Amino acid sequence: MVSGLGEVAAGLSKGALQPSELLEACLTRIAALDDKLHAFLRLTERTARAAAKAADLRRAARQPLSAIDGVPIALKDNFCMEGVETTCGSRILQGYVPPYDATAVARLEAAGAVIVGKLNMDEFAMGSSTENSAFGPTRNPWDLSRTPGGSSGGSAAAVAAGLVPGALGTDTGGSIRQPASLCGCVGLKPTYGRVSRYGVIAFASSLDQVGPLAPDVQGVALLLQSIAGQDERDQTSSARPVPSYGELLEKSVRGLTIGVPKELFAEGLDGQVERAVRAAMARLEEDGCTLKPISLPNAPHAIAAYYLVATAEASSNLARYDGVRFGHRAQADSLLEMYQATRAEGFGAEVKRRIMLGTYALSAGYYDAYYLRAQKVRTLIRRDFEQAFAAGVDAVVSPTCPTTAFRLGEKSGEPLAMYLSDVYTVPANLAGLPGISVPCGFDQGGLPIGVQLVGRPFDEGTLLRLARAAERGREQRTPEGF
Ligand code: GLN
Repeated sequence: MVSGLGEVAAGLSKGALQPSELLEACLTRIAALDDKLHAFLRLTERTARAAAKAADLRRAARQPLSAIDGVPIALKDNFCMEGVETTCGSRILQGYVPPYDATAVARLEAAGAVIVGKLNMDEFAMGSSTENSAFGPTRNPWDLSRTPGGSSGGSAAAVAAGLVPGALGTDTGGSIRQPASLCGCVGLKPTYGRVSRYGVIAFASSLDQVGPLAPDVQGVALLLQSIAGQDERDQTSSARPVPSYGELLEKSVRGLTIGVPKELFAEGLDGQVERAVRAAMARLEEDGCTLKPISLPNAPHAIAAYYLVATAEASSNLARYDGVRFGHRAQADSLLEMYQATRAEGFGAEVKRRIMLGTYALSAGYYDAYYLRAQKVRTLIRRDFEQAFAAGVDAVVSPTCPTTAFRLGEKSGEPLAMYLSDVYTVPANLAGLPGISVPCGFDQGGLPIGVQLVGRPFDEGTLLRLARAAERGREQRTPEGF
């Protein structure tokens, strides 16, 4: 039943669909199907029903707040929403009820979107499979023995299974694009600064970015339109005007140049994934794009640099969870013991690993060798992209992920194997660039494959245009049983 968010918006606009009906249909599907997936951590049925009723009236009066007025949307559980428990997939935040909305959430609500609930994720967004959630893993709708990817695995699974027409996620190293790829939906990580992170629980602040997931490119464009733009509460948000993505989307891709980096089509890439990605590239070429071989010589160092920068920032961001201000507090005799016991009980193994790695990378005597060096590599990676763009490349293409969805448990005991799942997505985060994953085919086992496009800063418009063209030629399927 996966109909695109674009279609849903058109149905609402014509009056063929009513927001309340649409919400009830989603709630019914969630009740019937989410036991199999565990995409949702909690629903916000009461407030959603009230919001949908208000949207019914606006739609009936033909006075919608925006194109997504009345569209049901779900949120990764690291977005604060006033009065709704927000755990970030962690025991340490169990019981934390934020007294305010994240800006992205407030903007969705101001556009009339109906927030349905909160979605599962890897604890503190650290992971690539959603297995690091303290509340149990999410499953992939295409094969319930496999992971949906992560860390926005709940978002991707819910969208791919047609439980909601759209969701928000966050992407620090690939957490929107990788699960979108493994679940067969579209996921966009905007440029660093394009969307406010105010009220989004921080993982690695120089990398984190908020973005949409939807079954279709148009849906992603509609969601981006409503959340993008400057916010005085996030100093890293950009003042650049937000263009009309809906208009840019429909422009022809003729004449665009797509860079094909040899480093991202190398060892470790599954043959079936490569074939599907190259077929998508050939379709773009038929549409009038030029494919140009390029080199991103420092891209092979991206994973190493990322896992130093991200862990260093995480170790600092997570210092605030000490049992005093947020969520879980352990019983202990002294303040110091309370801190220690709270953190020991509250954080899971991967989060503890990252805090230790990050603390080590930042400590006196090791700072220059690790953290500072990683920052230099980061600059080199950004320059590689700048050179490609200066040479006339409009976007860089690659697979989103080296393989299709892996089995639950397959990589959970091997952090390095898990980290390598992000090898193609991490460079865009380090360089601050926008990136999108679009479904482009299936492997022999029927698992979806995604192609990634990375663009110039603030050029989400070109990415959406290319993604729309790539999407046109793809084979449409729905996961069995959903
Ligand atoms: N999988 C990567 C990590 O574990 C990326 C996570 C993310 O983008 N939030 O850090």
